[in-house]
Amino acid sequence: LIQLYMPLHFLGFVYREIRHSLADMERMFGLLAQNTEVSDRPDARDLHIRGGEIRFEHVGFGYDDRRMVLQDVSFDVPSGHKVAVVGASGAGKSTLSRLIFRFYDATTGRILIDGQDIRDVTQKSLRRAIGIVPQDTVLFNDTIYYNIAYGQPDATREEIIEAARSAHIHEFVETLPDKYDTLVGERGLKLSGGEKQRVAIARTLLKNPPILVFDEATSALDSRTEKAIQAELQEIATNHTTLVIAHRLSTIMDADQILVMEHGQIVERGTHGELLAQGGAYAHMWALQQQEQQEEEEKLKAVGV
Ligand code: ADP
Ligand code: MG
Repeated sequence: LIQLYMPLHFLGFVYREIRHSLADMERMFGLLAQNTEVSDRPDARDLHIRGGEIRFEHVGFGYDDRRMVLQDVSFDVPSGHKVAVVGASGAGKSTLSRLIFRFYDATTGRILIDGQDIRDVTQKSLRRAIGIVPQDTVLFNDTIYYNIAYGQPDATREEIIEAARSAHIHEFVETLPDKYDTLVGERGLKLSGGEKQRVAIARTLLKNPPILVFDEATSALDSRTEKAIQAELQEIATNHTTLVIAHRLSTIMDADQILVMEHGQIVERGTHGELLAQGGAYAHMWALQQQEQQEEEEKLKAVGV
């Protein structure tokens, strides 16, 4: 009996572990309430990465058939380039990142990575090639160490600390009594939004995939820390294909192309300089943010910071 029991027991354990991490993954992206019906095709092959070019061709999508959230979205992120997406809240920016990671399939049109329709490749190979720092990171109920190492079981302690340093979270971790063994998440230490973002950035830097997607990844940081991390991210982006969804426009001025989204459509595209010269929606957003920043600086000066 014990011979039969042990493997079954082990299988049960494996099953629970897998279920646990899938739930974690989905929770991380705030998807738990939905049943994602994305599955591998029987003949799915592994994604063959060359430079990591991302291409959206006339992509339309709705979470619900009755309401389209994206309409006729086409753009290209050539391999090694950096494209930024900006626009008001609700415009559909985060939805783009969920489609790239194939949490959902496009309703119309298609998404290609290095010329391969992402519906034709295995999800495992697709997700291995992409690192996403989502807008709202939910950490696993485990240690900081586990949270950074997640998905990279072979990573060494040195590599994990290096990633934490690049994400400017190492110093903070060192101040905790249990350091990297500190339990975080709902049942542990509750990290602030900015701390969680930095853990998620460290995880992505450690994974070092060819394609990077940052969804307002530094939005919860104070502007000084944001600047420091941005410099780090900029350096890393130079040899990766990068899609950056940005809140503060000052962080994406250097992008090869900026896409401006409104109500699920791209309404303007160009470099920072081109878009300013165009005097449209982007130029307007820029002027507003410059003004806000000035007011902020004056306030800080007034209190003597
Ligand atoms: P952004 O990131 O630009 O703020 P999102 O891509 O998150 O915008 O959302 C685009 C639209 O899709 C919004 O109207 C939002 O309410 C809707 N939406 C986002 N996520 C879901 C979801 N999981 N289920 C249904 N509707 C959603
Ligand atoms: Mg968003």
